[in-house]
Amino acid sequence: MTVDIRLPTALRAFADKQEKVSVQAKTVGEALDALFAKHDRLKAQLLSPDGKLRTFVNVYVNEDDARDKQGLATPVKDGDTVLIVPAIAGGATLAAEAELSKAELKRYDRHLILPEVGLEGQKKLKKSAVLCVGAGGLGSPLALYLAAAGVGRIGIVDFDAVDESNLQRQILHDTLSVGTSKLASAKKRLLALNPHITVETHEIRLSSANAIELFKQYDVIADGTDNFPTRYLVNDACVLTGKPNAYGSIFRFEGQLSVFAAKDGPCYRCLYPEPPPPGLVPSCAEGGVLGVLPGVIGTMQAVETIKLLLGIGHPLVGRLMLYDALEQSWRTLKVKKNPACPVCGDNPTIQAPIDYEAFCGLKEKPVSTIREITVEELKLKLDKKEKFVLLDVREPHEHAAAKIPGAILIPLGELHLRAADLDKAHVYVVHCRSGARSARAVMLLCEKGFNATNVAGGILAWADRIDPSLRVS
Ligand SMILES: [Zn+2]
Repeated sequence: MTVDIRLPTALRAFADKQEKVSVQAKTVGEALDALFAKHDRLKAQLLSPDGKLRTFVNVYVNEDDARDKQGLATPVKDGDTVLIVPAIAGGATLAAEAELSKAELKRYDRHLILPEVGLEGQKKLKKSAVLCVGAGGLGSPLALYLAAAGVGRIGIVDFDAVDESNLQRQILHDTLSVGTSKLASAKKRLLALNPHITVETHEIRLSSANAIELFKQYDVIADGTDNFPTRYLVNDACVLTGKPNAYGSIFRFEGQLSVFAAKDGPCYRCLYPEPPPPGLVPSCAEGGVLGVLPGVIGTMQAVETIKLLLGIGHPLVGRLMLYDALEQSWRTLKVKKNPACPVCGDNPTIQAPIDYEAFCGLKEKPVSTIREITVEELKLKLDKKEKFVLLDVREPHEHAAAKIPGAILIPLGELHLRAADLDKAHVYVVHCRSGARSARAVMLLCEKGFNATNVAGGILAWADRIDPSLRVS
């Protein structure tokens, strides 16, 4: 008899992510045996050491509970579906009965002799699941230390490929992995470090549509993102699923650290109810970052995550730590829970993830509404000595390194303030590195009533097609 066994999300990790496994069997017991023969790690999940079905697991044949029939001896026929339905209270994942093998006892020896961790703590870590949002600068030390510490299940969400410019700080990846998926590279490295753990890769862009379901499968979420829409999404999804958020963020030489959305603690929105206007805070790609900085902050996120999993010490709930690498200083500020917070306050207005691109003001207008010229057209205008202001909206160091002759500098982040000094009688032609920041600048200027045009492709296109002697990185 061929029957289909349907696995719940929580168990798919133990069955090569399959939701359905077809087996030959005459009874429910035989079907489960056949399932375990294919995926032996499921056995410990579903059966107690004496071979009985665990009490928190229900097995259904089609619509009927097998317990109401003949239990494991319940007969099955061709085309039947056997459903495995574990009790999932509040979205908690079904954890493995954690026993440590001899090899694991040896590996975790320095944990085992710590009274605050010990055998029980190490088993707790093995039963735990942590989701790292991002396999970049923060995610690198974070995931490496969680893997080394023996956190049983580590999930990573990312959809990028490894770029050579990542390697200055993203120590999860190496030179050979340039051009390959970050997740494949991360998984390989983490399993090489600790083969006793499971690494789950989610090659998706985290979105309002998928965050809740994903977060439910983990105990702690570690936010290592690099943009505001995802940061607010992670925060809201953590509050909505009741998962603590080990938060870290970095910029140039400074880092921030906290634990948000813990029970009774404040959330990221309590601290920052609204994001800064688009363009005000440059990204690391635009503003730069000291390579070792995410090493410091990501490692601290790992410390907070492990404390949360073990339930030891004082997690950074209600406190925001600020790190300054140049000063080599840490400061700790108090963060209060805001009763009027729209997501974790007394009367929350956000009860499901929202549109975070729109919330952060990043919804781009259709490109057709922005006037654009090519670098060839710009060259022609310059050669004909047409009257216009060529505006460079990159950062000062980028302008200092390479510029188009005659361009004046106003970094995008300063434009909304300095626009008041600009003369509306002039025509503005705006460029940046590749055309993205300048498109935002053109939108901002047009909204303020300026005549502004974007240079498509930015100075990269200029260096490529007009002036090959220009070195732009
Ligand atoms: Zn809040």
